[in-house]
Parts: sequence; structure tokens; C-alpha cells
Amino acid sequence: MSTIPFNKPYLTGKEVHFIYQAVASGKISGDGMFTKKCHSFFEKRYGYQKCLLTSSCTDALEMAAILVNIQPGDEVIMPSYTFVSTATAFVLRGANIVFCDSRSDRPGIDEDKIEALITSKTKAIVPVHYAGVACDMDKIMDLAAKYNLFVIEDAAQAIESYYTGRDGVKRPLGSIGHLAAFSFHETKNIMSGEGGMLVINDEKFIERAEIVREKGTNRSKFFRGELDKYGWVDIGSSFLPSDIIAAFLYAQLENIDDIQKKRIALWEKYMELLAPLKDKFSLPVIPPYATNNAHMFYIVCHSIEDRTKLIAHIKANGILAVYHYLSLHKSEFYENKYQGPELHETDRYTDCLLRLPMYYELTMDDVEKVCKTIESAQL
Ligand SMILES: *Cc1c(COP(=O)(O)O)cnc(C)c1O
Repeated sequence: MSTIPFNKPYLTGKEVHFIYQAVASGKISGDGMFTKKCHSFFEKRYGYQKCLLTSSCTDALEMAAILVNIQPGDEVIMPSYTFVSTATAFVLRGANIVFCDSRSDRPGIDEDKIEALITSKTKAIVPVHYAGVACDMDKIMDLAAKYNLFVIEDAAQAIESYYTGRDGVKRPLGSIGHLAAFSFHETKNIMSGEGGMLVINDEKFIERAEIVREKGTNRSKFFRGELDKYGWVDIGSSFLPSDIIAAFLYAQLENIDDIQKKRIALWEKYMELLAPLKDKFSLPVIPPYATNNAHMFYIVCHSIEDRTKLIAHIKANGILAVYHYLSLHKSEFYENKYQGPELHETDRYTDCLLRLPMYYELTMDDVEKVCKTIESAQL
């Protein structure tokens, strides 16, 4: 019996060719030829003001925490149902994390529960576009304006996803908050093994971002010929990736339309085949203001028992499905620090959400097999 894995990183075939070019160019440290190509790809395609490749989305979030000047004791509001990096990036700067519950219809932050969590110490809100589906950014940006807060989009899963606000303008995710962080980890739609990007939408952060990314030095300015020597001017770290990583990434970016078309077709097939089973579990919801980038196909079971049963049943049929995100407020690291209320929706997704196989090389036949197998489970 052939098995269907949960994920399989897709290679376009050009990656090694571009890496060869990067190596042959003689400059394989950061900000070489391919890094520049990636930056201008993103800035042209999405109209982002400034993009900076990083070694990971975690790094981009850590840069964001430095740029908005998080100080010990500052509060940062974010969902509990997210990857640890959303929180650790701010915890490293001494922030207290204020966890917000998820929505009842999907795992994103419940925008209507944010305002009650804002205090005089709140410095930033970090919405996570879970599964690449936009949070209701108008509501979040209104709160940020009202209380003078920064918004940092965790757009790790959100490449090629859009939000249409009340002004009717369709904007790419990552272009709305003051800052945004993307991931190119191998589990994401567009990947370079490890990799990430910081997007800067507020001009005042650009100069300092270049410094923080270059170990606290003004080396970027020096390389552009704007200074005759460079030195240590701020805090920072080594957040920039080698041009070898950028070369790999560029090969993927050249194929973004093809990759997205294929993933969306698979996602829609899942939706079509599972729709008749909607009494057994719930299906993903894409709100009218969001687009679907097919980062993930998940279902939400009625109970943890159902999910355990379903995982075992499909595994016995050679299909690997996984769940993720133990509520961060109940993690070993944060449990004793958490003083807020129960987060019932967060806990429900932790117990009941199941991710189905989703990757470029998955076939329509595979999707049919997964769906038939799910249908045959006794739920
Ligand atoms: C993948 C992911 C990250 C971390 O990305 P890395 O590039 O591995 O650092 C952060 N947040 C979310 C929501 C993610 O899905």
C-alpha cells in the first residue's frame, strides 16, 4: 500500500541552478544578487514598501519586537492558538504576552475580544493569519489607531493572500500592519528549507531595520556608498540569510502562480468531496473579505475522541494527518505565568483540529482517497 505523507516539499527544478549561479558570482553572504531579486519580486508583486529577507519568520518577528521597541513589562496581544515563535520573539524582549481567544468559526484571533484586553501597558497586537486566511484587519487597525498600538502581522502562512477592507480595496496580507513577518520554512507554500522575510509598511522603521538585521551596524548604508566607513550603532543580530538561500527561494518565486494554482485546485477538491460530511465535523470558513491561498486544509472534529479515532483510521489506510498548536497559554513554559480566563475556542482547536495532506505533488486521486477514507470512519 502506498502511503500519502502529510507534507512533501516541492522543488521546481531551478533551485540548484540558481544556487550554482550564486556560488559562481563569488558573493554568497547576505544581500547578494538573489536576495535583491527576491526583494524586488515582493516589492513589485505586492507593493510592499520595503522587504528584508531573514533566516526565518522567527527572526523577522524578533526584528519586529526590537523595532517597535518592546521593553520589559510591555504587553503584547496575540492568539494563544499559534506557533511558539509568535510569542517567543516578544518574550525575548521581556514582554508579557496577553493571549486572546480564537474565533468560533475559525482559529484566527477573535477580533471582538481584543479591546477588553488592552491596558495602559499594551504596546502591540500580533494577529496571525491562520491557514493564510485574513484576520479582520479593519477592526484591528481601528483599535491600533484608537489606543496608539503597533500591529505586527504574523503572515508566516499568508503568502499570496489578500484582505478586502471596508474601503473596497483588496490588499495583500503583510501590507496592512506596521510590520509583517513571512516564513519560507519547508512546510509553507513557497519555501527555502528555512527562511523568512520582514515587511516594513511604516517608513520610519526602514533605516533601523537595516541596522538591526546587520548586527547593529550601518553596513547596509556603507555598501550602498552612503557612508565611508561602518560601525556599531545599535542593538541587533545576524538576521540575514546567505544568498544561497535566496537563490533557492527565487526559483520557487518564479513558479508561484503554478504552485498556487495547483494547491488551490487540491483545496477546492477537498472542499467539494467533504462538503456532504459536514455534520460529522466542520470545514474551513473563508470570510467574504479574505481570499484563500490554500496553505492548509483542515477539519475541526466534534471532540478529541473523534479526532483520535479519525487519525488512527486514516493512518491504518496509509494516510498521515497531523494536528498542531497546543494552546500557548497552557504550554509548559507559560502555564504558570498565565493569569487570564479560560480560552475555550483555543482549547477546542487544540483538541479537535486536524490537518489533511496538502502539498504540490498531491494528486486529485490522492485527495479522493483521503476523502473516501474519512467518509468510511465511524464518527
Ligand atoms: C511557520 C510559522 C512560524 C515560524 O516560521 P519559521 O520560518 O520556521 O521561523 C511562525 N508563525 C506561524 C503562524 C507559522 O506558521
